Amino acid sequence: MTTIENNLGQIRARMATACAQAGRQTEHVQLLAVSKTFGADAVREAVLAGQRSFGENYIQEAVDKIAAVRAMQLPSGAELQWHCIGPIQSNKTRLVAEHFDWAQTVDRLKIAERLSAQRPAGMKPLQICIQVNVDGGETKSGVAPADALALAQAVAALPGLVLRGIMSIPDDAPDFEAQCAVHEKARVLFERIKSSALPGLEQFDTLSMGMTGDLEAAVAAGSTMVRVGSGIFGRRTYGTPTP
Ligand SMILES: *Cc1c(COP(=O)(O)O)cnc(C)c1O
Repeated sequence: MTTIENNLGQIRARMATACAQAGRQTEHVQLLAVSKTFGADAVREAVLAGQRSFGENYIQEAVDKIAAVRAMQLPSGAELQWHCIGPIQSNKTRLVAEHFDWAQTVDRLKIAERLSAQRPAGMKPLQICIQVNVDGGETKSGVAPADALALAQAVAALPGLVLRGIMSIPDDAPDFEAQCAVHEKARVLFERIKSSALPGLEQFDTLSMGMTGDLEAAVAAGSTMVRVGSGIFGRRTYGTPTP
């Protein structure tokens, strides 16, 4: 068994335990494998171990990796999903629109409009999560919770996109209780948008939160997608391409 295969098994086991403790069904929480800084070979190993969804932060790195993985021999019928989970500048929207299946870090209407306009006609609509700054850090990306509903309404109306949910990247919290408290804020906001009866929310089903260090708290608070990097691929060494 490879290290990645073994790590994936451990993360899936942690997710299953967290679901059991929260009284949730395991199939209601997806695992996004965050492969940033790791190469196409690492992605391939994860695919061979059954993983299909991958998250990337650095757009040019991701575009190169997606092409490299596509050129590899993979199990037949393995359809990979690529999620952009890094900051999206205006000058990178075209690459995101042309190469990714999901963009989880939309926090401004202008970026959403560009992604919609630049999504190639032959591809499925780009699946979108609105990034919300739930813990209110001044310098952090993400829309303020108070503005999330209005942004959701505007994004849901764009033809090249499908609004799927919200995502958050809270700061590290000191313990399980504190992690739950911040994830709970995201869940409340998610429920509020979901129940708002806005048009275009038919597929609003994704609450993307939780990483290697806090996935149990995220699952307890209602996460439907945890994004795990180091727990699967090992420690990252930086000196990586900038976004
Ligand atoms: C890197 C990253 C992750 C994964 O973090 P780990 O702690 O390695 O699991 C998840 N989400 C985002 C947005 C990230 O940038």
